[in-house]
Amino acid sequence: MTLTASQISIEEKLDQLAEVAIHVGLGLAPGQELVMTAPLDAVPLARKIAEHAYRAGASLVTTLYADDEATLLRYTYAPDAAFDKAAAWLYEGMGAAFKSGAARLAITGASPLLLSNEDPAKVSRANRAVSVAYRPALDLITRHEINWTIVASATPAWAVAIFPNDAPEEALAKLWDAIFATTRIGAGDPVVNWKAHDANLQKRAAFLNEKRYAALHYAGPGTDFRLGLADDHLWMGGGTTAGNGLYCIPNMPTEEVFTTPHKDRADGTVTASKPLSYQGIMIEGIQVRFEAGRIVEAHASKGEEVLSQLISTDDGARRLGEVALVPHSSPISQSGLTFLNTLFDENAASHIALGQAYTSCIKNGDKLTEEELAAKGANTSLIHVDWMIGSGELDIDGVTFTDAREPLMRKDEWV
Ligand code: ZN
Ligand code: ZN
Repeated sequence: MTLTASQISIEEKLDQLAEVAIHVGLGLAPGQELVMTAPLDAVPLARKIAEHAYRAGASLVTTLYADDEATLLRYTYAPDAAFDKAAAWLYEGMGAAFKSGAARLAITGASPLLLSNEDPAKVSRANRAVSVAYRPALDLITRHEINWTIVASATPAWAVAIFPNDAPEEALAKLWDAIFATTRIGAGDPVVNWKAHDANLQKRAAFLNEKRYAALHYAGPGTDFRLGLADDHLWMGGGTTAGNGLYCIPNMPTEEVFTTPHKDRADGTVTASKPLSYQGIMIEGIQVRFEAGRIVEAHASKGEEVLSQLISTDDGARRLGEVALVPHSSPISQSGLTFLNTLFDENAASHIALGQAYTSCIKNGDKLTEEELAAKGANTSLIHVDWMIGSGELDIDGVTFTDAREPLMRKDEWV
């Protein structure tokens, strides 16, 4: 008998989500160690994932829980000077674990509005301190040297932020439904479904790699933008074989094919199509103008101060490190929801990211020095922040090396 989606209990779906996270997302190897981070409210999923990890042969699963309420207490009571401090010892330890072969799994689900009433300057200083401390460990991830993935758990605070008009329990149930539907859980064998989806994304990336466009041109309401691609850029989508030889799909869900733009070749005006939730603060109505790769003008109807602090983090924070194409028909986009969480919202629409580039999107990027990567156009920064520019009204052309334009997406669907 085949079960339909509605006949599968939430416990079974949670079990399936944990199963695909370990076997498809992470590709955990027998004997491998796992470092997991999770919000306190994600304990049920974190335990299910630990169970599947051990059943897959994990040697040790270490879960670090984050407590949102305790984070707020810091903003209420800690002295002002404290906000440049990060737990450097913890991030050094995580880096040491990755170097000795551990895999990395993050469960996302914190309240997107957690820090919305806190002092943006303090939030930005605290984020910067974490970015600096985490940089060496994060490098191993952006270089895809280890297998890693991110999955989501519904949490009460996240649910009420998305569904403010529903009773808390109903909001939580709705968010779980949305997570399962967009993560391809509950309709047939999720492992089989994920492998087919991965193959599709790989095919799309292969097509773009064959085309070798020099640039992309975007046209839509409030957007007239030309973005050069890095020399020797590689389009990627779906899974990747990490430096440790293990195949992983770093984001669940994932709908994007993406590559590295040229840090000095962005020109024109771009308007965001969705609000950006940056570390607990909402930035809305973003419009930015680029000249020779650099943001020279940045506006937001809400949160402009946070935006201007964000792009002042370092020189690379004003330049682009990622360009991604996502069809408007993706399940996340079709859900009609704004999740206020980058893992979902970045997979709802075509997007660009300020800051650090993925060096794996440059041919042999993992073997090049930072200077060689920069010469090809790869950006470096402490930040990597995705923002959505795709909508049903955006057209994207591929620009060839002879400056001919070919339609690539119309109304944000593949031509
Ligand atoms: Zn992306
Ligand atoms: Zn990104």
